[in-house]
Amino acid sequence: MKNDVRVVVIGGGVVGVSVLYHLTKAGWKDVLLIERGELTCGSTWHAAGGMHTVNGDPNVAKLQQYTINLYKEIEQISGQSCGMHLTGGIMLAGTRERLDWLKMAKARGRYLGMELEIISVDEAARLFPLMNKEHFVGALYDPIEGHVDPYGVTHAYAKAAQIGGAQVVRHTRVTDLKARADGSWDVITDHGNVHAEHVVNAGGLWAREVGRMVGLELPILAMEHQYLITEDIPALKGQKEQLHCIDFEGEIYTRQERGGMLLGTYERAGVPWSPRETPWDFAQSLLPNDLERIAPSLEVGFEHFPALGEAGIRKVVNGPFTFAPDGNPLVGPIRGLRNFWVACGVMAGFSQGGGVGLALSRWMVDGDPGADIWGMDVARYGDWATLAYTNAKVRENYSRRFRIRFPNEELTAARPLRTTPIYERLSDAHAVFGDYCGLEHALWFAPAAAAAHENITFHRSNAHAHVAAECQAVRAGVGLLEISNYGKFEVTGARTEEWLSHVMANRVPQPGRIALTPMLNERGKLIGDFTMARLGADRVFLVCTYAAEDYYRRWFERHAPPPGVSVRPCAMQYTGLSVAGPHARALLQSLTHEDLSTAAFPFLTFRRMDVGMIPALVGRISFTGDLGYEIWVTSEYQRALYELLRGAGAAYGLKLFGGRALNTMRLEKGFGTWAREYRPIYGPYEAGLGRFVDLRKDDFIGRAAALEEKESGGKLRLVLFAVEARDADAMGDEPIWHDGRVIGWVTSGAYGHSVQRSLALGYVPKEYADAGAGFEIEILGERCQATPLAGAPFDPDGARMRA
Ligand SMILES: Cc1cc2nc3c(=O)[nH]c(=O)nc-3n(C[C@H](O)[C@H](O)[C@H](O)COP(=O)(O)OP(=O)(O)OC[C@H]3O[C@@H](n4cnc5c(N)ncnc54)[C@H](O)[C@@H]3O)c2cc1C
Repeated sequence: MKNDVRVVVIGGGVVGVSVLYHLTKAGWKDVLLIERGELTCGSTWHAAGGMHTVNGDPNVAKLQQYTINLYKEIEQISGQSCGMHLTGGIMLAGTRERLDWLKMAKARGRYLGMELEIISVDEAARLFPLMNKEHFVGALYDPIEGHVDPYGVTHAYAKAAQIGGAQVVRHTRVTDLKARADGSWDVITDHGNVHAEHVVNAGGLWAREVGRMVGLELPILAMEHQYLITEDIPALKGQKEQLHCIDFEGEIYTRQERGGMLLGTYERAGVPWSPRETPWDFAQSLLPNDLERIAPSLEVGFEHFPALGEAGIRKVVNGPFTFAPDGNPLVGPIRGLRNFWVACGVMAGFSQGGGVGLALSRWMVDGDPGADIWGMDVARYGDWATLAYTNAKVRENYSRRFRIRFPNEELTAARPLRTTPIYERLSDAHAVFGDYCGLEHALWFAPAAAAAHENITFHRSNAHAHVAAECQAVRAGVGLLEISNYGKFEVTGARTEEWLSHVMANRVPQPGRIALTPMLNERGKLIGDFTMARLGADRVFLVCTYAAEDYYRRWFERHAPPPGVSVRPCAMQYTGLSVAGPHARALLQSLTHEDLSTAAFPFLTFRRMDVGMIPALVGRISFTGDLGYEIWVTSEYQRALYELLRGAGAAYGLKLFGGRALNTMRLEKGFGTWAREYRPIYGPYEAGLGRFVDLRKDDFIGRAAALEEKESGGKLRLVLFAVEARDADAMGDEPIWHDGRVIGWVTSGAYGHSVQRSLALGYVPKEYADAGAGFEIEILGERCQATPLAGAPFDPDGARMRA
């Protein structure tokens, strides 16, 4: 074993070898993989090897496509067969809702170039004769599905990496990791030590334990998973290999395995394995079978596929594999640890392993993953994702693996976990809550306790009328919204302006003023959108997206502030309330001695003031696009502020509103938001944020690329559409058609209650931005006419928010 290398990859499962291969491909040859047993001895060896392209997140779907296309490449380089069977697959729908969901998946696949097809039950039965037609109403066909041999794939990656210069060492366990002052690592093993510039944790079933070596508690849990293989089925003899099949109602998947069928299930009563610590003596091992536990799924499966029930069971496999709380991988560098990377929590290694390896290697070599991988960035979880939280969410996710997640559905596990001081007050006001980073926030308010429940649906729900009333109250009077679920940072110190000016694209505002700003990476792409509120010469309050707090903190570490400047995350220290609507000023004025007239306190003013007895930070800004104020207080004051505003608000007809109403009102103004319109695949000019990029500054991150984008115009344009939708609005990821061709995709949509139109924001190639007509947006399989709007349909010149 070498004793000094550029990278040590810990773990020789399908993910570790993929990272190793991609590092060599990217030009880093001095790389070493350390595996404590044989390659594949964790969860990889007993996998069913299934692979598919469909994923709820289109960006993850793209990486899945990449993975499947990679197998030929590594076979060619290594000479090792991956045992690929590209059979194609069908996903069977047993209900109308499921068929709607499949139509949505097909539509989303369109702009990724996926050739998915909705087929009738008869057609499905022709393709997959083992099914009993009477249980189904339709299906989705995907030609790019199949299975591979886990051993073959892992060894093909490893051999290809070795041909590229990598070293693979087996039967060697990493027992500890020690950071050096220069950011490099001493990797301690039971066969001697290695010094490495970078370490990658691809420890799979032991990724948690490897994380603990550096003080990290990764949100990962292994679940037991069972599949069985039947004896040979006479009907298959002499036939073409059967398709892969997912039966959502039965919650099972099946494929051919030699002369029989393999059938696996994600049972509702899933069982975690080794919830606290993974035993080190577990290698190339399986767990005792428990057919009893999956009996309900088998019963349905045998009814839906009678030939499987008639064949005997040849073999049962019960093995563990790991999940993150949302089922997507955990990839990327870890905040607070230099040169320490993770590639773990990969629950579908044969669909995702290649994409994970590609993204991580690019990140390490180029400083950027090269794709939008927000959905699998390890930074999406903060300290709140504890072991017990992870346990509850992973069990929920596992049990729902094949269930529909409706767009308006809020999951219930691990809730309520984090609440603000006014949680009970909002609950008493019949709030229907959503969960955001474990924090409860009001989505909408019902008129009575009995009505505080939302029907889950792809169409407009029972919340529609109540959200309409909330929007009406804001637009005609005044509404009150809790805004505690925003991220916040306090930047202080003598060189605050200098540092922010370097990190943010816009100019730092004058004291007492607010400026909106994109944050760009070196490639000039959007990695954040912030409100910079300047309290004094050396103090700026940043408001941003809370889910991205750790993502931002990692970036701020990489672009560290100069000595004397402190960047302090303070999201939960400051809770907030916002008042918005034409009466917002009169209401707030009744509670403060400050002059709130436009002359004294114009749009984008920010000031420390007392509201009643409460010390507060007040900004004149509102994401509703109406006259409005955001009021920030430290948490101990929030309840008093809430009571004060509600008490005084009665005279102005104050009504509570929630996140749903906010979403429709921001769409009426064409305002984008992080993780929807603003993501690292878009540039600021494409996203309509060009006016917040101050190119007069001669030095900020991404300036050269932003200038280039401004001059070339970029490739895309964010366009707001009015959609002739019927009873379902766009919600995001629907294809945008033009003259019969898919040319773009929706990023958000909702019904605009104040303008009485269904609205959608989405990206199209810039050549189409001024096309005017010929657009359609596909909602639940139906192409609805869509008209691009030249300006915001509500208050296009912004007179109300500036009034
Ligand atoms: C029954 C079953 C069926 C499945 N079916 C499918 C399927 O059809 N399709 C699909 O895509 N996925 C499937 N999976 C999931 C798939 O197995 C995983 O996604 C994949 O194996 C994850 O690979 P990994 O490299 O992250 O982890 P692992 O395979 O667990 O690899 C981690 C490796 O790291 C090594 N290691 C850990 N710590 C150390 C250390 N300190 N020092 C040295 N080495 C260390 C371990 O020995 C191990 O070899 C299935 C899983 C199971 C259990």
